[in-house]
Amino acid sequence: MSTLLINNVLLNGSRQNVLIENNRFKRITSEPILTADEVIDGGRFAMVPPFYNGHCHAAMVLLRGFADDLPLQAWLNDSIWPMEAKLTPEDIYAGSRLAVLEMIKSGTVFFEDMYWDEQETARAVEEMGIRAAIGVSLMDRQSAAEKDRLFDRLRNYKPTDRVSYTVAPHAIYTVGTDLLLRCKKAADENGQFLNIHLAETMTEDADCRKTHNGMSPVEYMDSIGLLSPKTILAHVVHVDQHDQEILARTGAICVHNPASNMKLSSGVFKMKELQKNGCRIALGTDGASSNNNLDMLEEMKLAALLAKCYADPEAGSATDVFNMATQWGAEAFGLDAGAIEEGKLADALLLDLNNEKLVPNYHLVSNLVYSADASCIDTVICNGKVVMRGRVVPGEEDIIEQARETCRSLIARK
Ligand SMILES: [Zn+2]
Repeated sequence: MSTLLINNVLLNGSRQNVLIENNRFKRITSEPILTADEVIDGGRFAMVPPFYNGHCHAAMVLLRGFADDLPLQAWLNDSIWPMEAKLTPEDIYAGSRLAVLEMIKSGTVFFEDMYWDEQETARAVEEMGIRAAIGVSLMDRQSAAEKDRLFDRLRNYKPTDRVSYTVAPHAIYTVGTDLLLRCKKAADENGQFLNIHLAETMTEDADCRKTHNGMSPVEYMDSIGLLSPKTILAHVVHVDQHDQEILARTGAICVHNPASNMKLSSGVFKMKELQKNGCRIALGTDGASSNNNLDMLEEMKLAALLAKCYADPEAGSATDVFNMATQWGAEAFGLDAGAIEEGKLADALLLDLNNEKLVPNYHLVSNLVYSADASCIDTVICNGKVVMRGRVVPGEEDIIEQARETCRSLIARK
């Protein structure tokens, strides 16, 4: 058994002593707690839940800034996919380490991923101490043998303390009905989540209606039984009232990616409408090449501002956006985390109350959403372990150097 005590920390407006035993919050009290294996003086800090990134392509940080200012299809076909074809498993590992480093430094302890060579991303996550639900990506263009191999891997993966696996068909324009049904069957049999990009662009919507008897992407997915509380949908921009009723009825999770949607001109996530209709929502960064960072603080601010863009200042409240990035995100993935409460998994951030961006501190959540940046985060705790302290992540110089070297060789490679 190991214990970690954070003394005299500001939590929900009052000073508390927070005892973590192994990987859970054991006791939260204003009474003194005298002993623990490790003690952190919380006097300078506020404790809040960390961030749960609902949609990412971690290793894509290797392509950060490689191709910008293009529409989605041209961006994928002409720039991203040809470069991705050159990536080796070692590259994915180097990219994933850089991504996890960036996420820890900006307060994220969990991400949902969709990429290639998922075992390399899992390796980086296991080593660096955070959590992930890592997708095994499927597309029609993979050979039959390759698909069989991927489904075999999915069947054999066992979730660990911090890492689980998901079935990840890329999108309805790259994965036909047969493969989608096979993905759903595998997810059900293996007890895994299914995650997919959906209703991202007008083109996707128009093509879907042409191919599938006038059905919208959401109607089509529902018609083939793909929507459930264990279906994670990234983007969900082009949805009408009927689509939203389907999403609410099925309990599928809609992940908002504001930076990516704006950068690729995909459209505006209907945050307020989706909430009003009872849909489950979460927040994600998408990959670094359509963002171009993995910073959930920035994503929260964009989500809040975007919701207000159409003359509705009460939409996208700081509290709702913060919940999207924390508790609702954790709940979407079935994690017993996302809140600082006795019995919950011990994930937390210590915010530096001496950081100028947090002064004055009338409303901490407002400060976090509208003012803070990563420099406000001093310490990151995941699963009861400190993964960043004093803004230092062990091994970060080596991680950055390895990523730089990988990118140099990637560009030179034919
Ligand atoms: Zn994506």
